[in-house]
Amino acid sequence: MSAGRPHVGKRSLSGKIFSSVLAFTLCVIAAVAAILTGMFYVSYSGDCEARLMAQAHEAAQQLEEGPGSRKAAALGAQFAGIVRFTLVDGEGAVLYDSATADPTTLGNHNDRPEVAEARETGEAAATRLSGTLGTVNVYAAVLLDDGSVVRLSETRELLFGFMEGLVLPLIALLAAVAAAVLLLSRALTRRIMKPIDALDFARPLENDIYEEMTPLLSRIDEQQRQLKEQNEELARAESMRRDFSANVSHEMKTPLQVIAGYAELMRDGAVPPDDASRVAGLIYDESQAMRSLIDDVLTLSRLDEAALDGDVPAPVDVRAVAVRVAGRLAALAEERRVHVEVAPGELTVWGSETLVEEMLYNLVANGIRYNHEGGRVDVALSEEPGENGRTQAVIRVSDTGPGIPPDKHEKIFERFYRMEKSRSKETGGTGLGLAIVKHAALYHDGVIEVQSEPGRGAAFILRFPGK
Ligand code: ADP
Repeated sequence: MSAGRPHVGKRSLSGKIFSSVLAFTLCVIAAVAAILTGMFYVSYSGDCEARLMAQAHEAAQQLEEGPGSRKAAALGAQFAGIVRFTLVDGEGAVLYDSATADPTTLGNHNDRPEVAEARETGEAAATRLSGTLGTVNVYAAVLLDDGSVVRLSETRELLFGFMEGLVLPLIALLAAVAAAVLLLSRALTRRIMKPIDALDFARPLENDIYEEMTPLLSRIDEQQRQLKEQNEELARAESMRRDFSANVSHEMKTPLQVIAGYAELMRDGAVPPDDASRVAGLIYDESQAMRSLIDDVLTLSRLDEAALDGDVPAPVDVRAVAVRVAGRLAALAEERRVHVEVAPGELTVWGSETLVEEMLYNLVANGIRYNHEGGRVDVALSEEPGENGRTQAVIRVSDTGPGIPPDKHEKIFERFYRMEKSRSKETGGTGLGLAIVKHAALYHDGVIEVQSEPGRGAAFILRFPGK
């Protein structure tokens, strides 16, 4: 998915696997090597003392048979190269030492721990750090019958020295392990990534892949569905906007053509002076129709942008608004011989007073326009229990007009929809009134519903969430 993007700073899976496996392998190797070396070294040390002690007893036995420094020299020669051979007399003086030509230069040896201990217990072994770093001396001393002590000594490498020989093989082993781990991690990465590379992102949930990836794929699926919905929504909005613009232009054209037509007649002197005021009246009516249309279009576009009155919801005294609307429409009502009545009762809606007035104006005006002589329009305000215990603010505008057939109950809220074009036009309708009402209701989180049967009047009911 990140194709084309630079990989700088990205962590690589194979690198991650490589370092983890390598670290793990090295730890295991180090642990095993340490344990084995330790065990080997301990047993090697123990063996050393035991072997040296056995040789010391052997030497002691031969010396018992024919003691004397001459015998010792012979024995020293026998051990030469392998061990150091020393014979100490009963007083601690060195009678013979295979490592020194003149044993008299050596001091009294009774202070040597192994010698001292051998005098007490018959035999003694000891291991001491030697002067040179990295080596130790192992001693085995045995007491002879005549009080002298024979001592064998061997120089042995310490652990570092012991390990020294292992360094090169160890480096080789580590290099081999690193190479193997590198290959392994590459292969592993390829195997892990293979199904991921083959993922079909168009249908995320249909992939047969690691269950660990299900949450990720579900998220992708969810986002794709949301995106699709949004795209559809956008396309729908765009097509509605285009329809709307086309409709607006079309609706504007008719009154403009009428106005232009009459103005042309007057300019050409084709209108008799007696008719002038009638024609001026027609032009006036058409311009009024255009003004209403422009007002409605502006209201709708402002509603689309949801940018009305600074957007701060304020309590609206619906009764006061209804009474004001009835007043504004009194002339129309009188002309149509329709009685408008606002029933007693208070009601508060939270939102925009301008919009509440716009809604009521359109509904009451429709009630008057789609009515018959002597008919009524009633505005009733009430609070009703709504969902989850909260009250709803309900505004009901009912009339005694021809009513609306059920199959048109949805349609009448569409922009520019008119059931009877001629009647709507003739009464100054733009086809936008109910669309504005519905939109304004939505803006208040409210809904509008129509109850009507043809011939039995119509009732428009607005419901707003209570506070
Ligand atoms: P108009 O400007 O045409 O009145 P509206 O959006 O206000 O536009 O109404 C759409 C259509 O719904 C009207 O043309 C009319 O046919 C129908 N209508 C609206 N109100 C009523 C009503 N109270 N009684 C009967 N029909 C109505």
